[in-house]
Amino acid sequence: MQFDLKKFFLTGREPYRAEINLDLSGYDFPGYQVQEPVVGTFVAEPTAEGVVVKLNVDASVSAECARCLDSVHQAYSLQREWLVRESDLTSDMLELPIDEAGKLPIDELVCEELVMEVPPVLLCSSDCQGLCPVCGKPKAAGCTCCEEGSTTPVDERLAILKQLLN
Ligand SMILES: [Zn+2]
Ligand SMILES: [Zn+2]
Repeated sequence: MQFDLKKFFLTGREPYRAEINLDLSGYDFPGYQVQEPVVGTFVAEPTAEGVVVKLNVDASVSAECARCLDSVHQAYSLQREWLVRESDLTSDMLELPIDEAGKLPIDELVCEELVMEVPPVLLCSSDCQGLCPVCGKPKAAGCTCCEEGSTTPVDERLAILKQLLN
C-alpha cells in the first residue's frame, strides 16, 4: 500500500482518502505483537502551503506483562497530521518514510507510528505485583510465601531458627 506523494504534488487537486486495513501480525515489534487487522484512514489534502497528510489508525496490541508474564491486550488509537512542502521530499528532515521516488509506504508509516506510541514495556496493570520471588507464581494469585503486607520474602534462615525455638 503506497501513496505517490510526489505525483500528488503535481496532480492532486482533490483530497485523497484511503481506507487502511493492514495485517501487521508478521512484523517484528519490540516486545509485543500487533493484532490484525489494523484499521483506519489515510488522507492527503492539497493546501496552499503543501500537502496535509493525516493518519488515523486503531490497533490492538498483545504482549506479556513485564512483571507477571500474564497476557496483556491494549488498544491504541493514533491520530497524526503532517504538513509536507514540496521541498521536504528531498530533505532528510522529513518525518515520513518517503522513498527516493517520492512514494510513501503506508504500512511502514503505520509501523513507525506504532513503535513510537506503544511503550516497549507493557504491564497488565500499573500496580501489577509481579511474580513471587520464592514460588514463582503471580503474587496476585495469593501465594503464602510472603508475610501479610510485606513485599520481602520470609528469610529461610529465620524460618529454620523459628522452628528450632518452637
Ligand atoms: Zn502483570
Ligand atoms: Zn510465593
